[in-house]
Amino acid sequence: MNAGAGPNGLIVVNRGIVEYAANEEEVCLVLAHEIGHQAANHIATSQRNKAAGALVGAILLGALGAAASYGSYGSPDLTRQAMEAGADVGGAIGKISFSKEQEREADYLAAVILYRSDIDLDKARGFLVTLARASGRKETGMLDTHPAGPERIAGWDRAVAEIRAANGGLPQRA
Ligand SMILES: [Zn+2]
Repeated sequence: MNAGAGPNGLIVVNRGIVEYAANEEEVCLVLAHEIGHQAANHIATSQRNKAAGALVGAILLGALGAAASYGSYGSPDLTRQAMEAGADVGGAIGKISFSKEQEREADYLAAVILYRSDIDLDKARGFLVTLARASGRKETGMLDTHPAGPERIAGWDRAVAEIRAANGGLPQRA
């Protein structure tokens, strides 16, 4: 179970997310969170993540080069290469991590995005509860790169209350 944001607007969502999610709204929360990292340009603001981002870009370029040299879709070799590139990108993106402040900002933006998209914020919240429950187990990759637990849920609840009161408006920056 993992998801991440990469360079050039890339967002990766592993199948585990969909398997853990109880409904579509929970998957939307994960996507909106990663869109939040993109919208706030979090990758470019971290030196460590710039390096990981460059690696992801190189893997994608390699995959595109392979596709171009085969020149046709549907070849088994191409499919295998694309799958390997996908796994590599997922692995590299799994190494991209953000500060606690950036995670809070991504959650806040996610709540704004979901609110403005008319997606049920209370249903979406369920994913944070699932994450908190899973946080004692080691096999959940998401927890290596994302905070989980009561603080994150409390932060989400505060954000949602604020965003509902502001009818989806963003807070003024100081
Ligand atoms: Zn995040």
